[in-house]
Order: sequence, then structure tokens, then C-alpha cells
Amino acid sequence: VSFGYTDVAVAEKTTKVGEVFRSVAAKYDLMNDAMSGGMHRLWKDRFVRRVKPRAGETILDMAGGTGDIAFRLSRSGAQVTVADINGAMLEVGMERAVKRAIPGLVWAEENAETLSFGDARFDAYTIAFGIRNVTHIDRALAEAHRVLKRGGRFFCLEFSTTVWPGFADVYDAYSHRMVPKLGKLLANDEDSYRYLIESIRRFPDMPRFAGMIEQAGFVRVTAEPILGGLVAIHSGWKI
Ligand code: SAM
Repeated sequence: VSFGYTDVAVAEKTTKVGEVFRSVAAKYDLMNDAMSGGMHRLWKDRFVRRVKPRAGETILDMAGGTGDIAFRLSRSGAQVTVADINGAMLEVGMERAVKRAIPGLVWAEENAETLSFGDARFDAYTIAFGIRNVTHIDRALAEAHRVLKRGGRFFCLEFSTTVWPGFADVYDAYSHRMVPKLGKLLANDEDSYRYLIESIRRFPDMPRFAGMIEQAGFVRVTAEPILGGLVAIHSGWKI
């Protein structure tokens, strides 16, 4: 065991992410609406249209949190497993599924970097607003590749970097000033939202992230920008 600077920083990130999502779980859905002006719902609808789930398929919704993507996927009749590292987020999700009478979802506490599922289990893997929180993104991508069947599809919805210059400035000002304030006002939790904004700023841009997906073994990797790349859908195939 070594306690060099990097190990400490890495352990801190995992702990910090755990604290953040335990802290925001109860207010998570309200905050998503408040911060994105409801737009996250449209992005998620568009994402699931890209996935094109089909009845009978098995889909792993990684970092599935409170179930937003899984609920949309399961309308197709696909068998969806919602996996997340954080039990508090999954509990909120399970309550929501009961209230909305959405049956058939499997809920699993899992770290995206070290999945307990066997090889080649799923037809599709989705991860929405989750991968930037993962400490070792390369390990999560390698695990996604491992658990997918041949012919399986990988889809990621994540904040990225908008290439619309004026918009980038407006967004920067909004996210750094307003989002922590909204976090304080609505969830009494300024720090967690400051962390979330910081993690968006640090995440690789579209071409770099596409390169990481290719490195993990995926082919025909594409990046589809939304709002100039403020948000992006990346996809790839396992062959
Ligand atoms: N996918 C949901 C959505 O779009 O509403 C939830 C997104 S939420 C912003 C991010 C989620 O990633 C949290 O529920 C958090 O617990 C989860 N997460 C963070 N690190 C993780 C990891 N290493 N493995 C699995 N889940 C992780």
C-alpha cells in the first residue's frame, strides 16, 4: 500500500463523491429541474431515443441514481438493471418506482469501476451524468466493455464543453455563481453543488472523451453535441 499524493487524492475523490450524493439524494430531482430549467428531461428523452431500447433486451443503467433513465428505458419492455454506488440514491429511486407503478426493475449497489456482473451479460450499457463522478474513468469504460455482449451498445450522456463562444461565457458565469446559490437555497448544500460544477469543468472535451471510449475497445464511436456540446451523447459498439 502506498500513500503517495495521487493515492490520497484518488481516495478523497471517491469519498467526496459518496458524501455529495448521500447529501443531495433527497433533493436530487428537484435540483435537476431547478438548475437546468427542466431541460434535463428533454436531454434524457433524447438520450433514450438514441438508445432505442427494445422489448426483451437487457440493459444496464449505470450510475442510474434515482431512476430517470431506467424509467424511460423500461417503457420499451427492456429488462433494466439500475446500478449505482450510492444506496441513498437507489432508495429514492425505488420509492419513485413504487409511486409510479413501474415494475420489473432490478436495483443493484455497484461501483462502475468493479462490476460484479459476469462477462457479456447486457445488450446495452447506459450512463447519464454519472461518468464524470467516477474516479478512474478508464476502468469504468473497460468494465462497460466487459459486461456488454458482442454487438452491444454503449451510450453516455454527460456535460461537456460547448463550442458556442458567447454561450460558454454565459454558462460559465451561471454555473459558478448561480448553481451553488441554488444549492444553498433549495437543498441547503452549497458545497456539494460547487463540487458538481467543478467536476463538469474538469471533464475531458468531446474528442478526448471519444478517444477514451475507443481506447476501451469500442468501435464506431460517435459524439453528438447538444447546445454546442454543453451536453453530449457519446456512443460506441462492442464487436
Ligand atoms: N443517471 C441519473 C440521472 O441522470 O438522473 C443519476 C445521475 S447523478 C448526477 C450521478 C450518479 O453517479 C449518482 O447517483 C452517484 O452515486 C453515481 N456514481 C458516482 N460514482 C459512481 C461509481 N463509481 N459507480 C457507480 N455510480 C457512481
